[in-house]
Amino acid sequence: MSDQAPNESLFDDVVNLAKRRGFVFPSAEIYGGFRSTYDYGPLGVLMLRNVKNAWWRSMVQLRDDVVGLDAAILSPPAIWAASGHLETFTDPMVDCRNCKERLRADQIGDTCPNCGSSDLTEARDFQLMFKTHAGPIENEGSVAYLRPETAQGMFTNFMNVATTTRKKPPFGIAQVGKSFRNEITPGNFVFRTREFEQMEMEYFVPPAEAPKWFDYWVEQRYGWYREYGIPEELIKLRPHDEDELSHYSAGTTDIEFLFPWGWGELEGVANRTDYDLKAHAAASGERLEFFDQAANERYVPYVIEPAAGATRAMMAFLLAAYDTDEIGGEKRDVLRLDWRLAPNQVAVLPLSKKEELEPTAREVLGLLQPHFQCDYDVTQSIGKRYRRQDEVGTPWCVTVDFDTLEDRAVTVRDRDTTEQVRVPIESLVAEIISRTAKA
Ligand code: ATP
Repeated sequence: MSDQAPNESLFDDVVNLAKRRGFVFPSAEIYGGFRSTYDYGPLGVLMLRNVKNAWWRSMVQLRDDVVGLDAAILSPPAIWAASGHLETFTDPMVDCRNCKERLRADQIGDTCPNCGSSDLTEARDFQLMFKTHAGPIENEGSVAYLRPETAQGMFTNFMNVATTTRKKPPFGIAQVGKSFRNEITPGNFVFRTREFEQMEMEYFVPPAEAPKWFDYWVEQRYGWYREYGIPEELIKLRPHDEDELSHYSAGTTDIEFLFPWGWGELEGVANRTDYDLKAHAAASGERLEFFDQAANERYVPYVIEPAAGATRAMMAFLLAAYDTDEIGGEKRDVLRLDWRLAPNQVAVLPLSKKEELEPTAREVLGLLQPHFQCDYDVTQSIGKRYRRQDEVGTPWCVTVDFDTLEDRAVTVRDRDTTEQVRVPIESLVAEIISRTAKA
């Protein structure tokens, strides 16, 4: 666990804010909630999308060696038999005979953390994949699994992608999507849930180049979190010990974040070797190889995999951004989110509800909306509305007042400095774009 004191009030503050302001709701709340599942509300869906878009931009859009994929979630047992998941994707589970709590044996000592009893059952393996049936008949032949990771879609489509894109190693296939794990002990809000979103990329390389690319991707991915606002003291790299490595890995480094309860994984970068392609080739009978024409030889590429959680990353960005300060003697909660991750970039605020301000305020909103995700809010005093926007991380507020009707200028207020400047409507979009370039 952490070498720093846990910060429980930060955790409560951020979870409360997320619920109160519509980032994250407990799923099926009107029925009392459902087993650590969560729904992303109006602000949460915007922010989660921004996290995924930021990842996609860095992994796909800004590169010419990585292409995208969106594979099916339902998958046949053959995939998971070949990948090793049916056999090894398990956690050791124990039951406390005293309080009946079900626990992960590798996460506890010799006593139950719930009641302190040491009357625990023997540990037994618990399969983490969700099993279901595809089609109207429920028998062994119709068994299907919900994918527990997105990665296998990239391996099973390796030849499809390589031949349709004519990519040669080193090249990558990236995917963002839902994964499902029947976690024994979900918890800590959206840190560990049974349904979550992943952002994974499989980078296929000539085997001899694997160590070089492994180091490259560890550095790239660390840099990505730093670029989007995680400060240095809250993030670190942790190479896995030999006995901790997954069955397919020749080396893994986790990127960890200092959560309020201690260090926890945000992303794992692994050298998966040629394990998966060889396993699928053997099981399917298909050739999953690259033919290097220049050298006139066939080989099975090695794979470097940066595997991140989108929902877990969103939580880390929220925790890192949460701050309180004082403005004019009043305490303020502020989310200092990078503008690219903030749910809304701009809020348009007519100074009062008076009708004569509305057409101009709506005109300003219409100018901004093609460029930015905007909020429009007319209720309460302007001071209260600024606070509401600060609390959800909106970097810029644009206020339309009665002078606007005369001089066609608006006030732009900055979330972090609270500084206000007057800007002509005609140059408003350019002004905000220039601020994004500086932010
Ligand atoms: P952990 O050790 O936390 O269970 P893991 O090592 O099993 O994670 P990976 O299989 O490497 O995780 O998955 C890649 C990423 O997917 C993790 O770094 C994490 O961000 C995310 N992730 C994995 N399991 C969950 C979950 N149950 N809920 C939310 N995110 C998850």
